[in-house]
Amino acid sequence: MTLKVGILGFGGLGQAAAKLLSTKQEMQLVVAADKEGFAYDANGLNALEAIAAYQEQGSLGYLKNSGQLTQNSIAEAISKDVDGYFLALPNLPNTFMASVAKQFIASGWQGVLVDAIKRTSAVEQMIALSPELEAAGITYMSGCGATPGLLTAAAAIAAQSFAEVHKVEITFGVGIANWNAYRATIREDIAHMSGYSVDIAQAMSDAEVEALLEKTNGLISLENMEHADDIMLERMGICDRDRVTVGGVVDTRNPKKPLSTNMKLTGRTFEGKISTHTFTLGDETSMAANVCGTAFGYLKAGKQFHQRRIYGLMTAAEVMPAFVR
Ligand code: NAD
Repeated sequence: MTLKVGILGFGGLGQAAAKLLSTKQEMQLVVAADKEGFAYDANGLNALEAIAAYQEQGSLGYLKNSGQLTQNSIAEAISKDVDGYFLALPNLPNTFMASVAKQFIASGWQGVLVDAIKRTSAVEQMIALSPELEAAGITYMSGCGATPGLLTAAAAIAAQSFAEVHKVEITFGVGIANWNAYRATIREDIAHMSGYSVDIAQAMSDAEVEALLEKTNGLISLENMEHADDIMLERMGICDRDRVTVGGVVDTRNPKKPLSTNMKLTGRTFEGKISTHTFTLGDETSMAANVCGTAFGYLKAGKQFHQRRIYGLMTAAEVMPAFVR
């Protein structure tokens, strides 16, 4: 069976997700939305045509035959004929994704939702919605990008060798040729820099973002970020949240990763030995490959739960992603 899939948000991640889906047999992209419009075709959208409409005309709403311009694109893109959506939307403000989840709950739609949100406080809002999602018949997979997501799941697996987990250190390297391709990602990263907040980063003009990146030579270095990997692992009883740290370097002017993304989990085995497991991503794998691949793996896993009438919220730390062929 081919799952009919939607992508909400058609920026850097949304477009990469559409391209990735075009290589899959088990999933078909039928609807995609951006801020100014959406496109729907029950027989499948062509990823390259959708990307061209978005890049050349500014919105999916201009796509021939299937496009529609609207200021209410999310609500209008919610369709009974879609099995699941990847929410590739910016979480600006920090409550935005939770408001989108509420919109799905209110619509009466049933299916699988997957997000790649990052902040602890954002995932906490989703966890609080779990009873409502469950009552609505929605299986919601939260924190299912790269970090949180792939690396958090790797930590949950690595923990199995240990009687006690002492620390989980996630360090990411991201290289992108131009910050413009991932505007929300970069704004949300700036929000973690000292002296900045989500509200400040959201309010910054493009010229202000460029001026800041000019000062840092295009690099954003982050330490001790508020990242939901911590509560996702705590929720599973793996370790307390204060034992989890996330940081990294983003180069906005070079597609080469400034460092290899890795997860190191240190613990004590039942025999009393202290050791560290390390999971390192290949440098050639882009942020888009690691986020979108994982998100659709969780969408497929979520569908298997949904078919068994298991609804509510799960995170990447508690479920194995499935593999989408
Ligand atoms: P982007 O800025 O490139 O694109 C955002 C898209 O959302 C645009 O198409 C825009 O039109 C659309 N949009 C904005 N508001 C909308 C609205 N109200 N209704 C409909 N569409 C709307 O974003 P991006 O850089 O691709 O990032 C998307 C999200 O993914 C960010 O929140 C980012 O933090 C997250 N992310 C997560 C990870 C991870 O590992 N977990 C990694 C990278 C990015």
